[in-house]
Amino acid sequence: MMKNAVFDRVEVMQGDITTLKLDAIVNAANRSLLGGGGVDGAIHRAAGPELLSECRKIGGCSTGMAKITKGYNLPVKYIIHTVGPVYRGTDEDRRLLSHCYLNSLKLAVKNHTMSIAFPAISCGAYGYPLKKACRIAIDTTYDFLKNNRTLKKVVFILFSADDYNVYKKYLKIFV
Ligand code: ADP
Repeated sequence: MMKNAVFDRVEVMQGDITTLKLDAIVNAANRSLLGGGGVDGAIHRAAGPELLSECRKIGGCSTGMAKITKGYNLPVKYIIHTVGPVYRGTDEDRRLLSHCYLNSLKLAVKNHTMSIAFPAISCGAYGYPLKKACRIAIDTTYDFLKNNRTLKKVVFILFSADDYNVYKKYLKIFV
């Protein structure tokens, strides 16, 4: 295998996830899947009210799991809704946050998705420290991509320049 073949498929960006034209974006949702603040609110506003109608039919999602809907007015085929843990500083938080990334990636592949973007799940209202969450996001994605050839692009998109720099710095370890 070519050197860096996994991390040739990983990209870090700063910006708004609702502007990305990819096969799928991931939403940091809550268990009701009925919308909320932060990135969830931005995605629902941009996708339009049909998204909420589809989410109502799903009937919720457990922490660490993921559900898929159409993208509606967003320039993506799919939105993958995952529910991050509320940070308490336990090993269980790590496990659940890792599951968010893993289950989202699995669901993406199952739906023939070749490109996907993640926000910093749990790092807003749910209080997960960004540096810790960044390691879990990237380590979990790396392990997944090692054994998967169908996903061509995984984007981590951060709202703030500080958050973007944390991801950039950690990613350098791998290249
Ligand atoms: P959680 O409840 O999982 O903590 P939040 O939406 O509160 O989710 O925050 C998750 C992360 O998403 C935060 O780092 C926040 O800065 C970021 N964020 C908020 N809006 C957007 C957006 N439109 N695009 C990308 N990231 C966003």
